[in-house]
Amino acid sequence: MKKLLVCVAVVTVVLIGVEKYFAGPSAPVFDYSGEPNSDQFVHDNLLATLYHEIGHAMIDQLELPLLGQEEDAADVASVFLIDALYEEEAAIEITYAAADMFLALAEETGEPYWASTHGPDLQRYYNLACLFAGADMDARAHIGEDLGVPDGRMIWCEIEFEAAENSWGAAFEGLAEKAPTQSVVYEGGTETLFEKMIMEEVVALNEDFVFPNTLTVAVEECGEPNAFYIPDEVRVVVCTEYAEWLRYLPLPQ
Ligand SMILES: [Zn+2]
Repeated sequence: MKKLLVCVAVVTVVLIGVEKYFAGPSAPVFDYSGEPNSDQFVHDNLLATLYHEIGHAMIDQLELPLLGQEEDAADVASVFLIDALYEEEAAIEITYAAADMFLALAEETGEPYWASTHGPDLQRYYNLACLFAGADMDARAHIGEDLGVPDGRMIWCEIEFEAAENSWGAAFEGLAEKAPTQSVVYEGGTETLFEKMIMEEVVALNEDFVFPNTLTVAVEECGEPNAFYIPDEVRVVVCTEYAEWLRYLPLPQ
C-alpha cells in the first residue's frame, strides 16, 4: 500500500462474490484436488476482496446513500481503492488477478445465478477492467484492450471512473482527514502468509483512514469460503476457507 488517501447500521450480513457456491439453488461442490494457484494470485485476490468489504464498511459507517445495488458499489470501491492506494505495477497485478477470478467463476458456474445480489461474474469482470483502465486511459487503455473490453464499452470507461471518483472520492477524503490513527484493529492468527498479509493491510489502512467507529478486520474459520462485512459488529471477516478456495480455483487457460 502506498499512495494517498482516505467512514453505521444495516442488519444483514453482506457477502462477497462467491456466495453462489453455497447459497445458490444449484451450487456446485467445489473441487480442491486440482493444481494450486500461486501465492501471488491468492494474495492479490484477498486484497481485492478485502477492499470490496471495506467498501461495504464505508457505506455502512458513513451512511452513504445507495443509488444502485450495494454489491456493485462495493466492487467500484475496491477498484477505486486499489487504484488510489497502490503503485502502478502492483495495482495492475491485482487487477489481472481479480479479473482472472471473475473469469474463472464465470466458467466454473456457467449460467449466472440471476437472483444473486452480485452482478453476473462476467459483468463484474468487464466492470473491473473498464473502471481500472478508465482511471488513466493514457497509460491503461492497452490493459482494457488486453482484458477484452470491447470498443463500445471502452468509450465509457473514463466517464465511469470519473463518476466513481465523484461518488467515492469525497467519502475517502473525509476519512483521510485525521489519519493516521488506530481505528482499524486486526483479529486473528499471526502465522500464515494470509494472516500476515491482512495484518499488514490493517496497519496500512490505519495510516490512511479514520473510521468513526472501530472497524475490526478478522481472519477466522467460517465453515464456508467467503468474506463479508457484519454491520452490527462493524466487522469485516475474511474466512480462512476463502484463501483455500482461491488456492484451488481452476483458472482459465
Ligand atoms: Zn459484497
